[in-house]
Amino acid sequence: MTILREVGAQLDHDCYPRIHDGGVVLPAAAVSCSTRSKEKTNVTSRQRRSTTRPWQGPSGRQRQAYRPRPARGATPVVCSGLQKQYEAELDAVQEAYPDTECWHEIEGMWLLTESTLLHGLGKKATFLTMLPYNKKFAVKSWCFWTTPIFVDWIGPRHTNFPDGSICAFEPRDKTWISGDSIVKLLDLYSLWAFRHLHLEICGRWPGYQSVRHPYERLTELRDDEHCGCAHSDRMYADCCKKRDLARDKTADARDFLLNITEGGLREPPKDILKFIRHREEPPPIINFLSQVCL
Ligand SMILES: [Zn+2]
Repeated sequence: MTILREVGAQLDHDCYPRIHDGGVVLPAAAVSCSTRSKEKTNVTSRQRRSTTRPWQGPSGRQRQAYRPRPARGATPVVCSGLQKQYEAELDAVQEAYPDTECWHEIEGMWLLTESTLLHGLGKKATFLTMLPYNKKFAVKSWCFWTTPIFVDWIGPRHTNFPDGSICAFEPRDKTWISGDSIVKLLDLYSLWAFRHLHLEICGRWPGYQSVRHPYERLTELRDDEHCGCAHSDRMYADCCKKRDLARDKTADARDFLLNITEGGLREPPKDILKFIRHREEPPPIINFLSQVCL
């Protein structure tokens, strides 16, 4: 687990690791960390193995033909430029994340990918990602720890309310926006799962994080984690904790649970859980479309 701790320590210095093919996360080179430690960008650097592995082309359940589904109402849900762009990147996705499965629908595509994260881990992070063909709608992904006999949702830290989808970056930061590289998105998700692994094994979330509500900070952050306010370079105990404790906690809890999170519970929708357990057809994308909120 040396690599886990080393990457965690680099993330604490706002230095981002390398993501290799298959979603393997490795520490950044020391020199790139020292030069990048002041950067606030939430990007990952990708080091690709040189590979001659050919893309085998459609097989099995990959690249299924279009399944027509009726669009609801008259809202245009497809932007053909975005569709072409995503489809053109699928070979690169297959190279970066081998064994990716893809399902095409009228409104967008589903991708099922696996990230190894760390060699010898004994489980993989499996992502079900929805890419709508319209920039108006948000990309969504759910992540699960998987083995041949075991599936477990990864959350609730840094997932969205109420559907438990991944919150790997602040949409307002424009770290990734619709139309950007799918591989970059999957790399960001791999890093998110890696941070969860660090939380599970080392007991703390490594690196900068955005947790804006005082009640959420009090209930989720450890003293030795980076604060979730605008001053993420400070630890929570040295930043907002005293102020958060001095507030009216009942009012903060009510505000967070009733106004911000519609009850405060997070869990993947039943259809997503059913798919990930049984691996049949993913549910209709149209059921999961929601507007991008910036
Ligand atoms: Zn703070």
